[in-house]
Amino acid sequence: MVHFRDPNEARKDVIVIGAGVIGLTSAIRLQETGQYSVSIVAETFPTDPKSIRYTSHWAGAHHVSHAMGDMRQRAIDKETFDVFWELSKPGAPTEGLFVRHTQTEYREDDLGPEKAYWLENMPEFKYLTDLPFDRVKTAYSFRTLTINTPAYLAYLQSRFIAAGGKTVRASINHISQVLEGGRHAFAVSPYTYSNSLSIVNRPRPPHAVIACPGIGARTLGGIMDEKVFPVRGQTLLLKAPWLDYGRTMTEEDGTYTYVMPRPGGLALVGGTREANDWYPIPREETSQAILQRAYALVPDLAEPGARYKSHLPPLPSPKPGRELPVPEGEEAIPLSMLEMNTLEAGCGLRPAREGGVRLEVEWHSAGKQKDVKIPVVYNYGHSGYGFIASWGSASYALKLLEDALTQGSPQDIKGKGKSAEHRTVDGSIGGN
Ligand SMILES: Cc1cc2nc3c(=O)[nH]c(=O)nc-3n(C[C@H](O)[C@H](O)[C@H](O)COP(=O)(O)OP(=O)(O)OC[C@H]3O[C@@H](n4cnc5c(N)ncnc54)[C@H](O)[C@@H]3O)c2cc1C
Repeated sequence: MVHFRDPNEARKDVIVIGAGVIGLTSAIRLQETGQYSVSIVAETFPTDPKSIRYTSHWAGAHHVSHAMGDMRQRAIDKETFDVFWELSKPGAPTEGLFVRHTQTEYREDDLGPEKAYWLENMPEFKYLTDLPFDRVKTAYSFRTLTINTPAYLAYLQSRFIAAGGKTVRASINHISQVLEGGRHAFAVSPYTYSNSLSIVNRPRPPHAVIACPGIGARTLGGIMDEKVFPVRGQTLLLKAPWLDYGRTMTEEDGTYTYVMPRPGGLALVGGTREANDWYPIPREETSQAILQRAYALVPDLAEPGARYKSHLPPLPSPKPGRELPVPEGEEAIPLSMLEMNTLEAGCGLRPAREGGVRLEVEWHSAGKQKDVKIPVVYNYGHSGYGFIASWGSASYALKLLEDALTQGSPQDIKGKGKSAEHRTVDGSIGGN
């Protein structure tokens, strides 16, 4: 049979499916080794308008790990934090994409005697003893950062292209399309002739595929992972150039409120965690509730002069039928003051997965070319921590790819007398 791949090619062709934070970071990790010629094939890119089909635009995003006792996830999150800390270093060209700040977390839920042990290695971590109201059981603070996600994603895309990476826009129906034809299966004119009349841009199987389709893993043919489901999150973007700290509140019933300072004098406030909710646009009543909760958590969201006179700790969060509490000696501040500073309401679908992230290798045939076997590395299902885990997951995916290419497909391994089990790496690295 005819096999167009040139075995002597210096760089191995790799297709990355997806241009969200996971696809872009994975693609950069590979491309910057100098060993691979990477092409991203994706339906949506960072410079497109925000939409429900691309989650990464909607993330806050702060680096606050939820890894708890999952040691592999902790290593992944830590590696990512170290990269972000370097990128956000004062004087670094990328500094402006981040805000380094003090993060304070209040919790009504019981963390047990070990408390927030998985965060204790964060810079300047300390437990707080001065709790703002009775229901708060644990409070702690540490240094971390938030990211201006749309700007950061654009930076990732340009860094990838500057390293020689290629991008192709396409909506992939089935993974076999890229397995058989590579990126040229989606070129505008796949059969372009060079001067010598040989076909260039000839569709051909890549050496490997890294699949990072986010929530698209549920519907993309050849993957169709039914363990993947959306956890919808709704947020508001406000003007608040005076805000220089972040706060979260986890209530007993699971309600989670956060306020993050964002580069450019902005603040992102949220949120919601609505499992299996696919609704694609913000709900007005949810926006109102978020604004109330966020204001109770961070009264400094209102502009100086319009806010309460005293510098307040967080207040108990208002709930339906319960008014936003007004501290003694203060006048209630109309929420319309905050609405005036609201620039955008949005929502995204966190790509959650039963059993956690899928980080593993599977071997596929190159479409009709049944005897050509290609490793597919899966890197999806990061739910609410895709930014937090991005660089560590990308390194993990690179390692899986290199092991797969070195050891060969299960068939090859069997031929060499090794066990085929070596080829399939157990992928679950915990959920959120
Ligand atoms: C409100 C909210 C707040 C969040 N806050 C944080 C936070 O503070 N910190 C944090 O770390 N995370 C946060 N997250 C989670 C984070 O946004 C996600 O984990 C992350 O964006 C997932 O990235 P992804 O690359 O897997 O998916 P996406 O960004 O959705 O990218 C998927 C890519 O795959 C492509 N694709 C899919 N199917 C196909 C197909 N068939 N053909 C071609 N291309 C396809 C898409 O076009 C896109 O390019 C938050 C999420 C939300 C909604």
